[in-house]
Amino acid sequence: MSSVLGTYARKPISFKEGKGSYLFAENGEKYLDFVQGIATNILGHCHEHLVKTIQEQSKKLWHVSNAFIIPDQERLAKRLTDNTFADFVCFQNSGTEATEASIKIARKYFHKIGKPEKNRIITIKGAFHGRTLAALFAANNPKHTEGFGPKVDGFDQVPFPGSSNTSNSEHTTIKKAINKNTAAIMVETIMGEGGIKVVPDFCLKGLRELCDEHEILLILDEVQSAYRTGNFFAFETSGIKPDIVPIAKGIGGGFPLGACLVTKKVSVGMTPGTHGSTFGGNPLAMAVGNAVLDIIFEKNFLQNVRQKGKYFHEELSKVKEKYPKIISEVRGVGLMLGVRLSVDNGEFMKKLMDNKMLTVKAEENVIRLFPPLIVNHNELDEGIKKIKKVCEEMS
Ligand SMILES: *Cc1c(COP(=O)(O)O)cnc(C)c1O
Repeated sequence: MSSVLGTYARKPISFKEGKGSYLFAENGEKYLDFVQGIATNILGHCHEHLVKTIQEQSKKLWHVSNAFIIPDQERLAKRLTDNTFADFVCFQNSGTEATEASIKIARKYFHKIGKPEKNRIITIKGAFHGRTLAALFAANNPKHTEGFGPKVDGFDQVPFPGSSNTSNSEHTTIKKAINKNTAAIMVETIMGEGGIKVVPDFCLKGLRELCDEHEILLILDEVQSAYRTGNFFAFETSGIKPDIVPIAKGIGGGFPLGACLVTKKVSVGMTPGTHGSTFGGNPLAMAVGNAVLDIIFEKNFLQNVRQKGKYFHEELSKVKEKYPKIISEVRGVGLMLGVRLSVDNGEFMKKLMDNKMLTVKAEENVIRLFPPLIVNHNELDEGIKKIKKVCEEMS
């Protein structure tokens, strides 16, 4: 019997090694890994530059307290702010901490400007923001909250914006939910766990306008989507600027790292002592975060991600055309893609695994595909071939 607390339904397999897009099981079998630690090993397994960075940094300095200036933290924050809407970054270790920091910053802002009554956040039904208590009740998924009461107050839920052709009426629902206590609207730009549901650009623009009109903040949770869609952030195609953006997963390339990005305006309440983290932003994590950016910022890197994502989306759509009774929809942007199935997603995933390909489940009977950003066309074709094979088997 395992001594590990049974909070996961684990597949009966373990791996001894990973290289790029592949994982190698204990028995030597090779798997095409489109899980990548759930969108986390953004540069694949054991990327040379990351391996070298960790080796070198581990000989110099691992951890010092945030009581001292950490030069690599300054550097990563500067690189993140130079290339985004944000003016400041606070470093965490995970996605849930990054979303919790976002919630705290939003509330503190209104407290600081003399409107402490504005402390409620509008969230989206079907969202996922992490497993700590505030993040849990922000998303308010009964599967995750049951038994963990009392409920953390401060969140008001509305339906997914722009999910159908009735987007206007759904903005009306959000509008109705805004009241004198509203501080912010928090949305995942692309709902990950919720089934790779993309908030369309026109809808992001509408949300921004709504926030401006009511003088509330827009928080875009990019924990899963940052760096992955062929843009630095998924919201960039809309042209809007959010106020607060939590990121994590891919930004550490597999090393635990989260961050919360904010504008100068919204940061005013966050003075010394208002927030902290023992591990957040330590030298080892910062070295890796910077190394990931070295690659992301390489000339044409994100453009290639866009191009590969478009290719994969097109190829998946062709499979959907061929097997319309199996695949009902291809969703997503860049290399954050999902396939909605008409057959059971768990069974489909199991058959893919029998064919040596790993994928992730999501809501709405979706399987998520997270190739590493360094994936090549042959590997994408291999994935398509395996998906086709399983479609054939299930027809
Ligand atoms: C995974 C995820 C989180 C939580 O991240 P953890 O690192 O597991 O705490 C939060 N928001 C979104 C959108 C996520 O996908």
